[in-house]
Amino acid sequence: MKLDAAFIAKMKEELSARKLDLIKELNIDAVKVTDEDYDAKFPNYGEKEDENAAEVATFEKNLSMEKTLEVSLFNVNKALKKIEEGKYGTCEKCGMPIDPKRLEAFPSATTCMECKKKSL
Ligand SMILES: [Zn+2]
Repeated sequence: MKLDAAFIAKMKEELSARKLDLIKELNIDAVKVTDEDYDAKFPNYGEKEDENAAEVATFEKNLSMEKTLEVSLFNVNKALKKIEEGKYGTCEKCGMPIDPKRLEAFPSATTCMECKKKSL
């Protein structure tokens, strides 16, 4: 079963929009190092002890946010690359087609439901 061009075009559009959203969010909580690598921002509220504690708390929040966003961005970029290579919608573990319903729900999915279940 091959995905039709209209479906792939729709997924590409969604992935591109998602990519822009992720980059926007990353720019709030992190600083850009390279296109795919960001570092969490360390805020500077002041030198008082409670201010320092607040900085660390915010940094930790930014750090976990940054990691989550970065992983999402990585997966979105990977899916976009697969579209370009004409490999989109194929499970990268078993090579079987991924259910289009799964792709609609998770446009950046790179494995089929069966392999996903196995890896959990
Ligand atoms: Zn699979």
